[in-house]
Amino acid sequence: MPDSAPKTISVDYNKCISCGICIYVCPHDVLELKDGVPVMVGKCKVCGLCSASCITKAISMTAKKFTDEGLLDVDVKDVVVFTCRRNVEKGKDYDATVISLLCSARLDPYLIAEVFERGARAVVVSTCGSDCRNYPGSAEAKYKAEAVRMMLEKLGEDGERVKVVEGNFEDAINELKAKNFDAVKNADDLKNALLNRDLRAIIARMRGIVEDGNVYGEKIDYEQYLKVLEDAADKAIKFSIISKNLNGGAKVSEIVSRTGLTYREVLDAILEMKRKGLVELEIDEEVVVSAKG
Ligand code: SF4
Ligand code: SF4
Repeated sequence: MPDSAPKTISVDYNKCISCGICIYVCPHDVLELKDGVPVMVGKCKVCGLCSASCITKAISMTAKKFTDEGLLDVDVKDVVVFTCRRNVEKGKDYDATVISLLCSARLDPYLIAEVFERGARAVVVSTCGSDCRNYPGSAEAKYKAEAVRMMLEKLGEDGERVKVVEGNFEDAINELKAKNFDAVKNADDLKNALLNRDLRAIIARMRGIVEDGNVYGEKIDYEQYLKVLEDAADKAIKFSIISKNLNGGAKVSEIVSRTGLTYREVLDAILEMKRKGLVELEIDEEVVVSAKG
């Protein structure tokens, strides 16, 4: 561990792959890569955006109650609100599970999938909009919520069950409760996909590329970026569906009949999974796929 290792965030140096995304997203420019790992070079404002964006989930907040486990240590009701703590009215009894974040920048889209897997039917994301003290932290949360909405729709769910608001979120709770959504059916695929590194990298850079542009100042149109995001989400979801249907090893034909995907979709996906070291392939009359390791 380097001497200047961050104190407010904990970095698992075994998981870090030196991608630099945490440095790219930090709103206060207090991280730098040194010898391939992030080190702190200024005063961290503890917004959590680096943790929400790390593609390998190598970064967690040092304070236990703001880690994923700490935030999710709640009883999940039908509606779950992820909110900047500034928007929570002290002493108020909300008709929802309210997860108070230090800043909405801390919203890892994976957390939304987790609460859906635990039975939530709708999610409100409450940001501070342009009043965000860690700007563009609020905007980052909005883009991440949009990515989850798009993925829900890919999974055949109503994306409207995720709603983004600025400030007070009581009306949004009532609105979503009135819609009586069913539970999300394939929340495990949503969750697994949101742990996919390629997809996380695309989500983490989305706001920056669309609003600020790349190092040459070139911006990518939102619709164009959405297409890139959709392709990556599509792959990540297929990887999840195939992985959970391998049962220790399966022929391509078995995967096709278990998943409802076409031969072409399964073949394309398993070749990509092989390239990424996620599965092993054996030829035995037919291609047999098994999870690696
Ligand atoms: S985003 Fe995560 S994996 Fe990438 S450099 Fe930062 S800590 Fe390492
Ligand atoms: S918590 Fe926020 S301010 Fe601190 S290092 Fe991470 S992104 Fe930067």
